[in-house]
Amino acid sequence: MKILTAAKIATAIALFAVPVIAQQSLDTLVDRELAQLVSTYKMLHAAPELSHYEARTSAFLAEQLRALGYDVTEHVGKYSRPEWKGYGVVAVMKNGAGPTVVVRSDMDALPVEEKTGLPYASTVKTKNDAGEEVSVMHACGHDVHMTTLLGTAKMLAQLKDQWHGTLVLIGQPAEETIDGARAMLADGLYSKIPKPDYVIALHDSADLETGKISYTPGYAMANSTTVEVTIRGLGGHGSKPESTKDPIVVAAQVIMALQTIVSRENSPLDPAVVTIGSIHGGAKSNIIPDEVKMMLTVRSYKEEVRQHILASIERITKNIAAAAGIPEDRAPIVKASETEYTPALYNDPQLTERVVGSLQKTLGADNVVKLPPVMASEDFGRYSLEQQIPTVLLNLGAVDPAKVAESKRTGKPLPSLHSSLFAPVPEPTLRTGVKAMTTAVLELMKK
Ligand SMILES: [Zn+2]
Ligand SMILES: [Zn+2]
Repeated sequence: MKILTAAKIATAIALFAVPVIAQQSLDTLVDRELAQLVSTYKMLHAAPELSHYEARTSAFLAEQLRALGYDVTEHVGKYSRPEWKGYGVVAVMKNGAGPTVVVRSDMDALPVEEKTGLPYASTVKTKNDAGEEVSVMHACGHDVHMTTLLGTAKMLAQLKDQWHGTLVLIGQPAEETIDGARAMLADGLYSKIPKPDYVIALHDSADLETGKISYTPGYAMANSTTVEVTIRGLGGHGSKPESTKDPIVVAAQVIMALQTIVSRENSPLDPAVVTIGSIHGGAKSNIIPDEVKMMLTVRSYKEEVRQHILASIERITKNIAAAAGIPEDRAPIVKASETEYTPALYNDPQLTERVVGSLQKTLGADNVVKLPPVMASEDFGRYSLEQQIPTVLLNLGAVDPAKVAESKRTGKPLPSLHSSLFAPVPEPTLRTGVKAMTTAVLELMKK
């Protein structure tokens, strides 16, 4: 008799369990998980891995998602360099007919020596591709993104009665080198999963208050291309310039002349940047070297602007070298990188509006702010397949509001993303991140 009663009670609990969970506010569910998420975050923060080497991070993410009931595929991604392994993680949860929604987190860290002094600061050192020892830090907050993804994964597994369709969670490697999304797509990501109806992601922000989300409808982040320029001259003795063609003088003229592309050749209404971030040439004061190497970043929103700038860099560089008398067979080599390129990030305005509407209800209208576009870049735009699939990237505030206020008052800038001092405030940032992503998915997949 006793056993029967217990069984009846268990049945009653089981019958009522789903509606009870459904009625619980998302806040309660997130708060219940928060201590665990904060400890996961600190663990990930202390164990960063460089782009193309996310072996342990991806294995951890895969194991956690599998434990939550997702069907997980590992090692997704094909790079141009065969020595790099693809560490992409794809986790799928099918829940009947309905839309396919992808949520993406990146996983890689940066060669930065952490100086935050936090108890969970990274002390990791490793060798980079050049064989040099470098420190490693999650200085861009991809550890925040992964923890948010895990929290969102748990919420949506618990709230399965509130959504339908195919939910796909992605752990993307190599965002910092902007070739990870491309590698996953090149490895047939969209044939391993149904072609998505929507792809969403978030990135933490180093100047937005924690508790807030920001968004930018339409073009939000620029395209970015790395260009390598080699100016070849005819070297010789520093005392005999007349018998040489000096590539250092040509490089100096090229640097100044390239400034006229944006200022004189480009419409002021089309944002564009040409930055020469690196110049190397020569070894000694009395030697005119044979060549000078420069590295540039070119950014714009429109593809035709990008093409125009790339053509102008080549035209100006080659003609300045010709004017200096450098022979045709020593003409400059101008190479726009195919791998260090990412298209502009476009937030589908309709999708953005829909997601933002749901976030305003969950987080409060004051906590969801619209911001203007920036010229930074992200390879997340790749998932849209040139705007065929609606995508949106939201920004997640990660800074103590008192520090934001102080920075506004004093004009002293806050540590930016990639800074050795960047330190997101874990608890409120993760709470907002998980609430925001769960809300966005529920909106897009609701029954
Ligand atoms: Zn980042
Ligand atoms: Zn970054």
